[in-house]
Amino acid sequence: MESCADKLAEAAFGAGTIRTVATKDTIAKDGMTVIQRKRIGDMLLEAGLITTAQLQTGLEEQKKTGELLGAILFAHGFISQQDLFKVLSVIHDAGGKAEPGAESTVMPEDMDALVKQSSSVFQVESGLDRRDVDSAQSPLVRMVDKIIATGVGRGATDIHIGPDTKGTRVRYRVDGALHHGMYLPKDLLNPVVSRFKIMGQMNIAENRVPQDGSAEFLYRERKLDLRISSFPLINGENIVARILDKSNLKLGLDSLGFADADSAVIQETLKLPYGMILVTGPTGSGKTTTLYSCLSFINTVNRNIFTIEDPVEYQLPLVRQSQVNVKAGLTFASGLRSILRQDPDIVLVGEMRDLETAELAVRASLTGHLVFSTLHTNDALSSVIRLIDMGIEPFLISSTLDTVIAQRLVRMLCPECRQELAGDSAVYGKLGADPRAVKLYQHKGCDRCGGAGYRGRTVIYETLKITPAIREMINRKAGLDDIRREAEQGGFRSMFQNGVDKIKSGVTTLEEVSTVTRTGL
Ligand SMILES: [Zn+2]
Repeated sequence: MESCADKLAEAAFGAGTIRTVATKDTIAKDGMTVIQRKRIGDMLLEAGLITTAQLQTGLEEQKKTGELLGAILFAHGFISQQDLFKVLSVIHDAGGKAEPGAESTVMPEDMDALVKQSSSVFQVESGLDRRDVDSAQSPLVRMVDKIIATGVGRGATDIHIGPDTKGTRVRYRVDGALHHGMYLPKDLLNPVVSRFKIMGQMNIAENRVPQDGSAEFLYRERKLDLRISSFPLINGENIVARILDKSNLKLGLDSLGFADADSAVIQETLKLPYGMILVTGPTGSGKTTTLYSCLSFINTVNRNIFTIEDPVEYQLPLVRQSQVNVKAGLTFASGLRSILRQDPDIVLVGEMRDLETAELAVRASLTGHLVFSTLHTNDALSSVIRLIDMGIEPFLISSTLDTVIAQRLVRMLCPECRQELAGDSAVYGKLGADPRAVKLYQHKGCDRCGGAGYRGRTVIYETLKITPAIREMINRKAGLDDIRREAEQGGFRSMFQNGVDKIKSGVTTLEEVSTVTRTGL
């Protein structure tokens, strides 16, 4: 037992109980106040653990990547794991903060406790004792809870934990971009992975095949759902936990970022007795939230609404929601077929991936149901072509399809730190904006936005209404360009143009809009 604990202790902190040793050595000499103000780079330099040149390299990379200095120095092999944690634990003991950002959340106190009971963690690994990965008092459990709570607190949608060259890397996806979370000792990967697997009711003894699981997590009295996925890499298992926060769902087309006029057009469509409404875009473009907003608008006791989803992300009152379960034989197609026997008025089919599902959805809308679904297409117009390519007859598309919304999410500039672009910036010319009339901004980064320069996301979109003229064009298989020209005459504006509106109103940047629409100027 003790030798196991010693080994892990040595790996994480160096031989002996480093916290006490380091505290005595450094704090007694320098005094608390000095240490509190010290930055990690200076401390490492003073201790002779890195050279000035190494610090300079680290600082330059930090400027470019925004990563934490300790992690960069570590990744370059300039410092050892032991030295890094030694310094971090001194900073922690002194009550000071190492760096603005996440390095202070490495939680030396938790790791210290973990090291003390590491022998039992190893027992869990070999399947002997589950208590320490499943008891609220266990330091490992508290640490994993802290990893999750930190993510939720930062507004993350996903938590990534995986092996790195020299340690265990935790990252958070916030507003669509991955950010550094914390860097843990390599030896903690397996215990942390095991804890996630136990939460997700997955098999901890199996580490050679990918697994999926789900768990509930209580955060400040809010119940969150976690979808946990494990994947074996050559150097250890990788965990991704998606955070689904049912209580935090912002519904309503306006609050998602749809302009009043467009929101009104969409709401008119929702009054239709039957037909098909599609929302398109890649994974993570907010399609589900838009669909839920549509459903919540028409959700009344006297309409019977059914969904088949993969997975159910939020529970809506009154709506009968079901979830694809391939193992049990419940697919989009089989689910939809059964739902049609449940006397629905409105059906939401999570996604039309195959001809069978698409045909059933079209048939449902022909037989008097309002059908909502999604497709993976880049823009609204190509959805028509995609359906034809899947094998649906053009006349069936033209007689059922009513509206197609294509959308993406762009990050919104942090209002605290956004910077006005100089009047001679080329962006004004590119957007055809007069610097005397319009103010454009660029991102910077401050404490409020965690240095990202952006906070929250909004939708950019295009809405294609299938008019009688377009119906007729679909029937005679007219080309995309012709249909686009016709739509534009009727007032169709592309997603990029919608993005430009949002740049001009200071909400986002050209960089963001160009990235998500893949349109360059
Ligand atoms: Zn900011």
